[in-house]
Amino acid sequence: MRIDIATLFPEMCERVFKESIVGRGIKNGFIEVYAHNIRSYTEDKHRNVDDKPFGGGTGMVMQAQPIYDCVKAISAQHKSPPRVIYLSPQGETLTQDKVRELAKESGLILICGHYEGVDERVIEELNAEEISVGDYVLTGGELPALILTDAVARLQPGVLPNEDAYSIESHYDGLLEYPQYSRPEVWKGRKVPEVLLSGDHAQVLKWREMMSLEVTKKKRPDMYRAHIKTLTEKFISEFKASAEISGNVDFSTLALSDELLKLIKRGKARSIEIAKNSRLEKGAYVILTDTFGVPKFIVIITKRLENSVQFRLLYKPKKEESND
Ligand code: SAM
Repeated sequence: MRIDIATLFPEMCERVFKESIVGRGIKNGFIEVYAHNIRSYTEDKHRNVDDKPFGGGTGMVMQAQPIYDCVKAISAQHKSPPRVIYLSPQGETLTQDKVRELAKESGLILICGHYEGVDERVIEELNAEEISVGDYVLTGGELPALILTDAVARLQPGVLPNEDAYSIESHYDGLLEYPQYSRPEVWKGRKVPEVLLSGDHAQVLKWREMMSLEVTKKKRPDMYRAHIKTLTEKFISEFKASAEISGNVDFSTLALSDELLKLIKRGKARSIEIAKNSRLEKGAYVILTDTFGVPKFIVIITKRLENSVQFRLLYKPKKEESND
C-alpha cells in the first residue's frame, strides 16, 4: 500500500515516519509513505498558496490550484487511481471500521488543510472524501493525516509481528480490550490478577473475554449497548433460520447467573424463578442471557407459576454444545 500526504509542512510528517513501528514498517518495505509540499505546485510567482476569503472574514484560505496540481501529480505516480481524502473537522469521524476499510486500498492521498481550510471547489473537483479525527478543531490536517496513516499502516501485513497484535485490541470487534499487566507481579502493593499467573490458558481467555465486556460496559456504555444489540440480532436470526421461522416473533429477555446457565445447558434445570409481577406467560419466547446481556439460549415458556416459569429449550448455539 502507498500513502501520500499533500501538506504545507512535509518535514513535520517525515519526522514521524522515521520513528517507531510504522517507521520500521516503511524501512522494511511493508508500506510506502511520502509527504509532498503543496507549495511546490503553486503557479504564484511569490510562491503563495493562500489568499483572503471571498465575502470577507478573518484568516486565509488555501487556494484550489496548488492542491489540485499536487494531487494530480501524485495520482499519476499510482498504478491504479488512489482514494483521495481531505482531513477535515467536517468529515466522517474516523473509526476502526473505517480504518479497516481504508487499509484494503492500494493507495491513499491525504490532503492537509491549514488556516481557515481549503477552497471548497478543489474538494468538489477531486471528489475527495472528508474524514475527521474528532469533534474539535486543530490548526492543520497534518496530525489527523498522521493519525490516519498510523492506524492504516499498522494493519498492513508485516508492520506488526502478527494478526493478534491488532485483532485482539480495542475497537477491533466492537469492544474495548481487557486490562494488561507486566512485571513485577506486585507494584506499590497492587497485585496482578491471579488468573494471569496461573498458566491456565483457557481460564486466561475466559477472564479476558469477561474483562473486555466489563471494561466496555463501564467506560463506553454506548459501544457496549451496540455490541449486545448486534449479538442479539445475530442470535435471533440464527435461531429463526434453524427453526425455519420467517415472521415476526416477540422476545423477552432474562439475565441469569452462570451457574443456572450451566444447568440449563446440561438439561438439568427446567424452571426459572421470576418476579411475581413479571408479565411472562405460557407461549412467550425468552432469550436467556448471562449477566452481561450476552444471549445464550432461547426458550419457550410452557407453564407460568406464581414466582417461576417452566420452559422448553428451543435454541442452543453450536458453540454452547461443545465447550463447558
Ligand atoms: N474553518 C474550518 C472549519 O471550521 O471547518 C477549520 C479549519 S482548521 C483550523 C484547518 C485545517 O485543519 C482543516 O482544513 C483540516 O485539514 C485540519 N483539521 C482541523 N481539525 C480537524 C479534525 N478534527 N479532523 C481532521 N482535520 C482537521
